Amino acid sequence: MTDLSEQTRFKILCAVDIIRMSKDTVVLTGAGISTHSGIPDFRSTEGGLWERYDPYEVASLASFRYHPEKFYQWIRPLAQGLDQVKPNAAHLGLARLENAGFIQTVITQNVDALHQRAGSKNVLEVHGTLETLTCVSCFQKVNTQNYIKPLLEEGTIPRCAVCGGILKPDVVLYGEELPVGIWLKALDACKQCDLMIVVGSSLEVLPVAGLPMRALERGAHLILINRMATYLDVRADLIFHEDVVEIIPEITKKVLGN
Ligand code: ZN
Repeated sequence: MTDLSEQTRFKILCAVDIIRMSKDTVVLTGAGISTHSGIPDFRSTEGGLWERYDPYEVASLASFRYHPEKFYQWIRPLAQGLDQVKPNAAHLGLARLENAGFIQTVITQNVDALHQRAGSKNVLEVHGTLETLTCVSCFQKVNTQNYIKPLLEEGTIPRCAVCGGILKPDVVLYGEELPVGIWLKALDACKQCDLMIVVGSSLEVLPVAGLPMRALERGAHLILINRMATYLDVRADLIFHEDVVEIIPEITKKVLGN
């Protein structure tokens, strides 16, 4: 890239050194990586899905139980986009680093499965996934793909073929616990890593925002790549307030030497 500043180029070289030296690297990703693939940021006030709806009203577990139709109306624009979105240069760069042994774990707040589609293998989806739905009555799990078309075209609420109950996307709603098995794995990964790289997360949503602290407590290095400042900027070894799609591919090329 020609438009990166001298200072940014220097920081990229430092990041490359830290990544090469590290034995166990955990990457934590948030909405800022997927907005470059056209996925709206759930929480962004500009054009975000929150703008027209009160999130606590539509996207809470309690209201889903009473008004699933409101939830599905709200999530329709996201479901619409999911068919067309593709992993971007940042997802692909992280997957290349993982496959070459430079990243051990990807923890993501995103529910779009773009890391897996890019080729990442050890992905912990702490906020769940839109890829599957679970029946709220009999807990039957199904693939979302089979229900997207009727939802988009007719606004049909997905229902369980076994018992007729409402199907809920396997994403974590307000008032809902994080998937405990995945959360414990994420905690363990953070406690044992020697490098944590935060990519496209402003670290505002608890409890995930606290994960880098677990890594820092054990003496891990911290690299932050996010447009906005975070509460951990003061603790980071390196900070990039640039677009992840500009920085990650450059770092990847230099770490891998091609
Ligand atoms: Zn059912």
